Amino acid sequence: MSYQRARSFKACVNCKALVRKEEEVCPICGSREFSEEWYGMVIVINPEKSKVAKLLGITKPGRYALKVGV
Ligand SMILES: [Zn+2]
Repeated sequence: MSYQRARSFKACVNCKALVRKEEEVCPICGSREFSEEWYGMVIVINPEKSKVAKLLGITKPGRYALKVGV
């Protein structure tokens, strides 16, 4: 994942999901609050088997930031 490509995402403040900047509603939790200040990216394919997903409280597959709103 290149830096430019990563920066075309914003992170949901509520659930940390990374969505494209043109999207207005988080597809995971329905929140409309996003932050462009986020760090790290984790792609969760199977939340039930992922330790990282459990650690971050992720229950749906998707692309997430490790940290939002630094
Ligand atoms: Zn969300």
